[in-house]
Amino acid sequence: MLEPGSTIGILGVGQLGRMLASAAAKLGFKTAVYGPSAETSPAGQVAGRCFTGEYEDEDAVRAFAEHCDAVTYEFENVPAATAAAVTDTGTTLAPNAKALAASQERLREKDLFRSLNIGTVPYWAIENEADLSAALPEAGRSILKTRRFGYDGKGQERLNGDEDAGKVLSELGGGPWILEGMASFDRELSQVAARSAKGEIAFFDLCENQHKDGILARSVIPAEVSAEVASQAREAVRLVLEHLDYVGVLTVEFFDVGGELLANEMAPRVHNSGHHTLEACSVSQFEQQIRAVAGWPLRDPETVRPMEMLNLVGAEADEWAALAADPNVDLTLYGKGEARPGRKMGHAVRPWRKG
Ligand code: ADP
Ligand code: MG
Repeated sequence: MLEPGSTIGILGVGQLGRMLASAAAKLGFKTAVYGPSAETSPAGQVAGRCFTGEYEDEDAVRAFAEHCDAVTYEFENVPAATAAAVTDTGTTLAPNAKALAASQERLREKDLFRSLNIGTVPYWAIENEADLSAALPEAGRSILKTRRFGYDGKGQERLNGDEDAGKVLSELGGGPWILEGMASFDRELSQVAARSAKGEIAFFDLCENQHKDGILARSVIPAEVSAEVASQAREAVRLVLEHLDYVGVLTVEFFDVGGELLANEMAPRVHNSGHHTLEACSVSQFEQQIRAVAGWPLRDPETVRPMEMLNLVGAEADEWAALAADPNVDLTLYGKGEARPGRKMGHAVRPWRKG
């Protein structure tokens, strides 16, 4: 167990890093963050120390890791060589490099779900035009996604099955790709869970999520689900956590299709759909992550107040004063400068009544 006063390092300088750093400080840890323009970043504004550098700069990453007693990350696109640069110094990286590799490439991710007998939509590996031409008629309504670097619905194209494969690929760019059958889901759910260094697992209640323009717009905890659906989600996530010998918070997104859960994707980190665990639950996803990374026992994350979270995307954050004036709203702002379209600027949490 890391003692209070030890330094927790966070790769990444966005809002997730900011909330992780705050949670680490709550437990008496020092914090350091690493990323481009660290000083002025959302995470850098609250961290004890900022290391500015590119993620590919292995020497700079090594110097950062040497300063830290444990390192975690707030985004899954940490390059493999960067992860290795951390562990080469003898500093623990949690979650481990295997978890990063499995979740930063969509085909590997789906293959992992499939190998563990976790349901997914049908999918096809697409390397080139011939692959797509062959798959499209069978897939019909589908989504083509770049295997790497997609987020908030970026790097995706919705298809009917009758498109010209060459044209679609050149317009989307960024191959190789994965083609996924379109799920007609009743709703989207996410399971946030944590596994400790000793292998204990703690599950948050499921969240139900709604997206707008590919970006999470609203999330409620707890989702109203049957015990059967809840246990499907837990069992699937348990399999992934144990398979990866995972330490930290993992989030798996699911489609609920008539009570059958299909795993969509996973994030080896705290997740946007778990922000309201801070207000709703006995422990937040951020504290749970810091506990796991520090080798501490996990807490039992009980939902004590049902809450809904609304993301403030782009100009929506201009309404901050009205939200701040609403006594029922718990407002969080990320300290970002310009409210560009599609940019997550903050979120608002308020009590939510079931039914
Ligand atoms: P990301 O969140 O990384 O942008 P996702 O794979 O989660 O990528 O896709 C974003 C959203 O697009 C999903 O939350 C869901 O609403 C929709 N979506 C993605 N894949 C499918 C699919 N195969 N069938 C139906 N909807 C999908
Ligand atoms: Mg997603």
